[in-house]
Amino acid sequence: MRYEGPIYRPPSEADSLLVQATVGCPHNKCTFCMVYKQGPKFRVRPVQEVVEDIHAAKDVYGSRVRTMFLPAGNSIAVPTEDLVHICRTARQVFPLLERITVYGSARYILDKGESGLARLAEAGLSRVHMGLESGSDEVLRRIKKGATRDEQIRAGQFLSRAGIETSAYVMLGIGGRELTREHAEETAWAVNAISPEFLRVRTFLPKINTPLLRQIEKNEFQIVSAHQALLELRTIIDQCVCRTRLTSDHYTNYIQAEGVLPEDRERLLAQVDKALSLDESAFRPVYVGSQ
Ligand code: SF4
Repeated sequence: MRYEGPIYRPPSEADSLLVQATVGCPHNKCTFCMVYKQGPKFRVRPVQEVVEDIHAAKDVYGSRVRTMFLPAGNSIAVPTEDLVHICRTARQVFPLLERITVYGSARYILDKGESGLARLAEAGLSRVHMGLESGSDEVLRRIKKGATRDEQIRAGQFLSRAGIETSAYVMLGIGGRELTREHAEETAWAVNAISPEFLRVRTFLPKINTPLLRQIEKNEFQIVSAHQALLELRTIIDQCVCRTRLTSDHYTNYIQAEGVLPEDRERLLAQVDKALSLDESAFRPVYVGSQ
């Protein structure tokens, strides 16, 4: 089996077989993201190589493979028929496979179209990990996410109609102090419009080699405090009326809030309020991340 570039996968795919379908990220412009800023350049791996790696994995892991993730940054961008072939092959080689997942940004999900996504669902693609980050158009523009709120919403709705689960990622603090309120309220609004199966929370932490770190150094972006990040989380929990599983499965978060909305709302709000009653010094300091 082969792998090129940084290994990057969602924490929820920690036990999944990783078979690389793409190298790098075709967008690679998000100002907060360091993963592929130093390369490698984006390319789609030849489908035959991916199929060879699936068979090679069978020799090593056999029937133990129950979940599979296809790195790298936006493997939903693989041409539809190639991705269909990869998913079908994986399902044949690993008959006990329960889940196949990829990362996918809104633009590349929309490029697939509803019919392309339906073909992928039928071939066995189960879930797309989608970086929503924010529901605010202004925040999305500033962080160069490459999609508007409406495009993000449409992408999530396309996935839902195709029968593919959406694992949506939101980033607390990514609007900075200036846009903290707008970011939280409009993110809750977008999440309600998408109604993702999973809502995964991260908290912005500056990373080396990123444009956003350079903006911070020039005082063009002010990092939110722990309390401000928690207030954003509180707003999102309070205003999300759709059914979704909230997860804080990331080291950047100030608290680990886990539950199903809406039924766990009161418990989750009480957890956030308890954290808000603590002094700021009780939380991790801001530091520059290197991974
Ligand atoms: S956050 Fe995702 S889409 Fe944006 S540059 Fe990083 S890998 Fe690419």
